[in-house]
Amino acid sequence: MTASLVFRLHDRGPELVREVLLERGWEEYDEEEREEEDWNLYWRGSAFRNSEYHNLLPWQRLNHHPKTVGITRKDCLARNLRRMRATCGSSLYDFSPTAFILPNDYTRFLAEYNKLRLTRGPSVYWICKPVDLSRGRGIFIFTDIKHLVYDCSVIVQRYISNPLLISGYKFDLRIYVCVKSFHPLTVYIHQEGLVRFATEKYNLSSLQNLYAHLTNTSINKFGPFYKTEKERVGQGCKWTMSKFRHFLHSQDINELLLWQRINNIVTLTLLTIAPSVPSCPNCVELFGFDILIDFRFKPWLLEVNYSPALTLDCQADITVKKGLIGDLIDLMNYSSIDSFRERAYQKHKHKRPCFHGNQPSPVLTKFKETKFQKETSGTQPSQSQALPLLKTLRQPKKMNQRRSRQQAPVADKRRHLPPVDLSRIYATRGRIINTTATKTHTDETLNLILGPHSRTNVSVVNRQTCPLSGETDVSSKTPDIRQKGLGFRRSAVSWRLPDIHSGSRRTVKAPLEGTTALNGQHIPPLRVGDFIRTFPFNKATLNASQNELDVKSVTQELHRLTGRLAAAQSDKTNRRTVEEELKMDTEGEEDFDSLFWGPKDPPLLSQCFKPT
Ligand code: ADP
Repeated sequence: MTASLVFRLHDRGPELVREVLLERGWEEYDEEEREEEDWNLYWRGSAFRNSEYHNLLPWQRLNHHPKTVGITRKDCLARNLRRMRATCGSSLYDFSPTAFILPNDYTRFLAEYNKLRLTRGPSVYWICKPVDLSRGRGIFIFTDIKHLVYDCSVIVQRYISNPLLISGYKFDLRIYVCVKSFHPLTVYIHQEGLVRFATEKYNLSSLQNLYAHLTNTSINKFGPFYKTEKERVGQGCKWTMSKFRHFLHSQDINELLLWQRINNIVTLTLLTIAPSVPSCPNCVELFGFDILIDFRFKPWLLEVNYSPALTLDCQADITVKKGLIGDLIDLMNYSSIDSFRERAYQKHKHKRPCFHGNQPSPVLTKFKETKFQKETSGTQPSQSQALPLLKTLRQPKKMNQRRSRQQAPVADKRRHLPPVDLSRIYATRGRIINTTATKTHTDETLNLILGPHSRTNVSVVNRQTCPLSGETDVSSKTPDIRQKGLGFRRSAVSWRLPDIHSGSRRTVKAPLEGTTALNGQHIPPLRVGDFIRTFPFNKATLNASQNELDVKSVTQELHRLTGRLAAAQSDKTNRRTVEEELKMDTEGEEDFDSLFWGPKDPPLLSQCFKPT
């Protein structure tokens, strides 16, 4: 008998996650009926406590990595991007509007304000946003500093006053990004996303009209024109990304470069925190990146959402978010994770890891006497040592909570291990994560990555369908597939342990089921449902992220990729050079291709480099 997977929701939400998991046959955790550790996925909108990371068992997953606030709080994001701009060059990190954190940066803001006022007059716009609020709360736009009034920490940012409009309406893109792992960095972007519209026509002479300037659904759904049929936009305030792709096709732009620049924004933003996020392989995180496109088709990062809204307000929400959560669950690859929980119980001749009523768990009772504490020295445990420390988990809940609060520092030194055969699992170990990024690129070349570009012919868009894309879908049951020609093979079943021991940052790494191997390195599947792997995207970035994250190499690769893409799509006089370069560049890379996130039927990256 197969045990059901169990999910646990904090504060009974979000409903969509419950619905999707129940449809897939999962059971909801009930603290009255289950052991405290008898769950596979714990989902919460807010942050987990340190002790919750430290006490994770091998079959348990959390929906947040620790310490990602560095990009999800507006002031932290502004600070981190500023730091990266100073280290890697302002051209590379030129994708977020200049921002000042007030009150601290008031003097610097004043200097910039005065400078721009002198050179450009009153036509410079600013937006003021409370740092720890969301959903458009507390936001206002101003041109004159006398209107800047605040009573909490805020960021004041250059307002992108020339956004791309659709029939006069402002919009932004909500891009769903899943960071499967920070060590090594493994990123997926979902093909579907949302386009969020303002519900009144954009007009710079009415800055107070939030229905014209803000694209938050939480604001616009209360606007007087929400239900009105609006020219081209339609009713409501949302489109799916697929509908936006249709719109793009009607525009005179280089669509691939737009997608690639958004892709670059995601990677470069994650690079700002990746080296400092503790390794916790049993975590996964779904971020919502908000991207505004200006009238020159330059994408700008507005913010990164920690817990993107999963409410279903309209048909676009239903279409996008249900698929998104389903694909996220597939990406977590529970078929392998649960096998540990399953095997643990089977080994001890018990049918289910779920024990109803107040009966003590036979399996857990069995482990009660066994105490295993493992220092983070990195020595490989024997199988007998590998029995988990579950005794503490069997204590009454209140005592347990008290213990985790009081003993958090002790927990640093302890790791719980599963009752499964470990001998073949401790294959590789990570090293101390560190990074130094240096200034290497010229402004001119880096412009290719993110810089504004003028309109070019639509014909440059490679709309060719990827012949492998249909075959490369990875379902929940078979997360990995054999791919002829790409050298992928199914890996052995294995798992990862949580490791958030600050200081040493040693990672116990082993390939997850569903990854593929290339010269001993493991490549995550290139696609899971509509999630497209965007990092690593080639051999060099795979290498750059294996041990110490080499930020410099990654930025060079992003630059090279974007440059090749731009060259391949430029006019035919460049064709020879491009073909020669392509030959050089792809040598030895044919066994590691990636899909190009963004366009419909995402092509393989190598196909995008073929001159049009
Ligand atoms: P919140 O977390 O409150 O949603 P955001 O930073 O996402 O805050 O801003 C809310 C909305 O305001 C965005 O969706 C966008 O429409 C608009 N906005 C925010 N910053 C800018 C900016 N710098 N330029 C133009 N519009 C912006």
